[in-house]
Amino acid sequence: MTPREKRRISAKLRIYNSLTRSKEPFVPLESRKARMYTCGLTVNYLMHVGHARTYLVWDVVERFLEYLGYEVRHVSNITDISVDDNILKRVRESGEAFQQLTTRHTRDYYRDRQLLGIRDSYTYAVATQHIQEMIELVQQLIDRGVAYEAEDGVYFRISAFPRYGRLAGIDLSTLQAGAGGRVDKDEYDKQHVGDFVLWKKAKPGEPFWQSPWGPGRPGWHIECSAMSMKYLGETIDISGGGEDNLFPHHENSIAQAEAATGKPYVRYWMHVRHLKLGTEKMSKSTGNFLTIRDAIDQFDAPTLRLFLLSTHYRKPITFATDSLQRAQLQVIRLRQLLSRLTAIIAHSTNVAENQSKEDMLMEKARSQFEQGLLDDFNTGRMVSQLFQVVNHLQRRLEAQDGLDPAQAQVWLKFFEDVGTILFGDLYVSEVLPQIDPVVVSLVELLLSTRERLREEKRYEEADKIRRELERAGFEITDTKTGTSWWTKSLKREEK
Ligand SMILES: [Zn+2]
Repeated sequence: MTPREKRRISAKLRIYNSLTRSKEPFVPLESRKARMYTCGLTVNYLMHVGHARTYLVWDVVERFLEYLGYEVRHVSNITDISVDDNILKRVRESGEAFQQLTTRHTRDYYRDRQLLGIRDSYTYAVATQHIQEMIELVQQLIDRGVAYEAEDGVYFRISAFPRYGRLAGIDLSTLQAGAGGRVDKDEYDKQHVGDFVLWKKAKPGEPFWQSPWGPGRPGWHIECSAMSMKYLGETIDISGGGEDNLFPHHENSIAQAEAATGKPYVRYWMHVRHLKLGTEKMSKSTGNFLTIRDAIDQFDAPTLRLFLLSTHYRKPITFATDSLQRAQLQVIRLRQLLSRLTAIIAHSTNVAENQSKEDMLMEKARSQFEQGLLDDFNTGRMVSQLFQVVNHLQRRLEAQDGLDPAQAQVWLKFFEDVGTILFGDLYVSEVLPQIDPVVVSLVELLLSTRERLREEKRYEEADKIRRELERAGFEITDTKTGTSWWTKSLKREEK
């Protein structure tokens, strides 16, 4: 695509903004630049599949914005200290030193993101490395009269910020302790029940940093406002998290940032619906979760990515074995098709005919995949579009005339563009076949022989071919649309 075409297409991007509760055209603060800040993990345990859904959505958003020609700057935080005491609780339970536990889980977090093929172009903002910026922001809020010091900490006075509650659509008078699950019940000294903590004074034995209000630690909310403004400026284009971050976390982040700067904080707020396991939300706090590593052991990483992105991010999904098995089969079909296209390019010497017709077909498919993502990053539409193309090409390959090398090349380019957004870094490492084209041709030949034998009802001989292929390490799956195959030994072994 030329830069002009990219501009033309990107003008059609619409994002559902949680703040206005409507889909809006995406207009960044600065032309052709997109500044994103997303809420990352609290590093007291391994990442679970529910977290992965959210982080994969950001990966697609970032990749698609770049596809459209935006220069993307994406910052995500790592919460390695917080007032809600989740980390300290784990420290007490495990007996591991605070620093050791958070360092270990931060490393696990980087590794798990890599396993999922999430790109590593981020600035990771680690909370404990930005305590000074947070202290400065708290001081600024005190100076402006919207925060006050109490016996046990420093609080934000929500009555001093009239727009408070706009994101969540709540009325201040209805706020009660415990609402939203994160209003800390032991914050006795605040003046209003909705006031939230910016700095918590340390009790004996708790980790602390020095501050103008004595030793203590920052609130969870203040880290996101302070770090996003440090790296991305006072107004950012896109910010978001899981739907449970909307209130009070994002409401409070807006209050802190806007009360300090007087400028709009985030132009587009995005929230990812949660993932269910059984009938309940997948959640670390209730113990109802599956870690990324366990999920990847059961299925594989491309399957997990495809499953989680097959549904639009604003719709709920349930983690269920049969849905994952379906996704696994889809990945196998895609790998098989890619192997065949690769083999055609390697072998055939046919001269390309009808090239312009093929280009037109591909451009049509490309435009449909773009339409899906331009509509509030609807990855569900993108996935169904992709598999329509897979079906179409499989049908053509079954037919006599098949595809010539130039045509196969056109489609491989298409799959590279779509596949890199959908599977991320895994597209090259785990989806695109690293298989010898000669092997592909031989397996295809054996399978078509097997098919012919079955048509002739010579089942014993047909089964023998299948058994021999399986013994050689190939997985053979018969479906209504044909036979799929893949070989286990070619999947990435190191996990
Ligand atoms: Zn945050």
